[in-house]
Amino acid sequence: MPLTSLTKDETILRDSVRRFAQNKIAPLVREMDEAQKIDPALLPQLFELGILGIEVPEQYGGFGGSFMGAILAVEEISAVDPAVGVLVDVQNTLTVNALLRWGNEEQKKKYLPRMNTDTICSYALSEASSGSDAFSLKTQARRDGEDFILNGRKLWISNAAEANLFIVFANANPAAGYKGITAFMIERGTPGFQVGKKEDKLGIRASSTCELLLDDCRVPAANVLGEVGKGYKIAIETLNEGRIGIAAQMLGLAQGAWNYAARYSQEREQFGKPIASFQAVQFTLSEMAIEIEAARLMVYNAARMKDAGLPFVKEAAMAKHFVSQMAEKIASQAVEIFGGYGFVKDYPVEKLYRDAKIGKIYEGTSNMQLATISKLILAAR
Ligand SMILES: Cc1cc2nc3c(=O)[nH]c(=O)nc-3n(C[C@H](O)[C@H](O)[C@H](O)COP(=O)(O)OP(=O)(O)OC[C@H]3O[C@@H](n4cnc5c(N)ncnc54)[C@H](O)[C@@H]3O)c2cc1C
Repeated sequence: MPLTSLTKDETILRDSVRRFAQNKIAPLVREMDEAQKIDPALLPQLFELGILGIEVPEQYGGFGGSFMGAILAVEEISAVDPAVGVLVDVQNTLTVNALLRWGNEEQKKKYLPRMNTDTICSYALSEASSGSDAFSLKTQARRDGEDFILNGRKLWISNAAEANLFIVFANANPAAGYKGITAFMIERGTPGFQVGKKEDKLGIRASSTCELLLDDCRVPAANVLGEVGKGYKIAIETLNEGRIGIAAQMLGLAQGAWNYAARYSQEREQFGKPIASFQAVQFTLSEMAIEIEAARLMVYNAARMKDAGLPFVKEAAMAKHFVSQMAEKIASQAVEIFGGYGFVKDYPVEKLYRDAKIGKIYEGTSNMQLATISKLILAAR
C-alpha cells in the first residue's frame, strides 16, 4: 500500500480541513498577516471542526484520532496559511500530546476536554539565552509547601496571545543540571504570570510569538506534568514528535505555493500564450512536484512510524530538515513563476516565501536536526 494513500477516515478529515481552509481561512490570510493577528472568530470554528485536539480520546470528549490525522490537518491548513498551521500544530503535536503521554488521570480529566473545545495552549521551553541549548534554561521553580514558586522569562512562545493554558519548563533543582527541569501547567490569570511583548516577525506574522513573564508565580504541585525532574524527557519526546508537525507545516506550505504557481502559469500569457506552455515553466513545475512528493513520503512515513509505535526519531529529524529546505526552495520558485507579481503582496506567494524561513529555525534548527541524525546513524554502525 503506498504511504500516501489514506484510510477512509483520513480522507474525510483531509477533505473537510481542505474545504474549511479554502472557504474560511483563505479570504482572511492577507488581512491577518497585515494585522499580525489570527482573526478571533476563526478559533471557535477550528474547535468546531475538531482539529485542535485530534488525538483526544473519546472518554475526554474527543474523537481519539491518530497522530497522522493531526499531521494531515496541519498540512492542509498550512497550504492556505502556515500561520494558522502552526497554531494547529503546537496544540496537537506538542501540548495535547504532552498531556496524553505525561498527564495523570486528574490532569487529563481537567484539561483534555477543554483543549478539545475552547482552550488554546502554548509550549514554553525557549528563553533569551537558551534556544538550541534548551536545557540551560534559567527559569527556576522553588518548592514552597504544596506549591512551586516560578521566576524567569520565556521567549518566542507561539500561540501565547490566544492561549489560556501554558506548559512551562523550569528548573526545580539547578544543582542537578538538566535533571532538575520540570514541566508545569499554568493557566492564564495565575498571579505572577503574564504574557509579555509580541514579536514583529518576517513570516507567519498572524501567529502570535510572545514573551512570558514569571514573577513569583505560585503554581500548585498538582500542576506538575509528569514528575519533578523529568521535564527534559518530556521536552525531548514531545519535540521529537513536534518536528513531524513542522515538516507537515512546511509540506503544506510548499503544496500551497505549487498550487498557486500552477494556476497562475495557466492564466498568465506572454508571447501570446500561457506561460505554462513554455517547457522551462513546465519543467520547473514538474521538478517542484517531484520534491513535494518526496517530502510527503518522508512526512507520512515518520507519522505512520510514530502511530505504529516504531522508533521514528531519525525519520522525524530527516523529514524536518529536508522538508523545510524544500519548502524554502519551492516558495522561491513559485515567486519566480509569478514574475514581478510574485514580489508583491497582491498575490499569496510572497507571504509563503516569507513564511517558509521559520521551518529551518523552530523546534530545533537545521543544524540541530543534523546533529540528531548523525548521532543516530553513526551509533547504528
Ligand atoms: C516564530 C517562532 C516561534 C517559536 N515558538 C516557540 C515555542 O512555541 N516554544 C518554544 O519553546 N520556543 C519557540 N521558538 C524558539 C525556537 O525553538 C528557537 O528560536 C530555536 O530553537 C533556536 O534557538 P535560538 O533562536 O536561541 O538560536 P541559537 O540556538 O542561538 O542558534 C543560532 C545559530 O547557531 C546554530 N547552533 C547553535 N548551537 C549549535 C551547535 N551545537 N552546533 C551547530 N550549530 C549550532 C543554530 O543552528 C543557529 O543557526 C520559536 C521561535 C520563533 C522564531
